[in-house]
Amino acid sequence: MESTEVIREIDSEISLDEGDHDRFSHYARKADIVESAVTGKPIVALCGKVWVPDRNPDRFPLCPRCKDLYEQKKSKENK
Ligand SMILES: [Zn+2]
Repeated sequence: MESTEVIREIDSEISLDEGDHDRFSHYARKADIVESAVTGKPIVALCGKVWVPDRNPDRFPLCPRCKDLYEQKKSKENK
């Protein structure tokens, strides 16, 4: 059954810190979030944070840095 190969490799080089600063939802590229939902791999957020998006982003407050960057980007695009 070669087709049932499941790759669930967790990169041990990336340590996810469970400190308070991880208790945020971050903005990231939608394609990356979708990919992470499938692979379970951490992605890089808008603010540069490497994290695994939660399935329930509403559980955590939005990262202030991501929010700033997102709003800056949005206001530039609107001009
Ligand atoms: Zn962030």
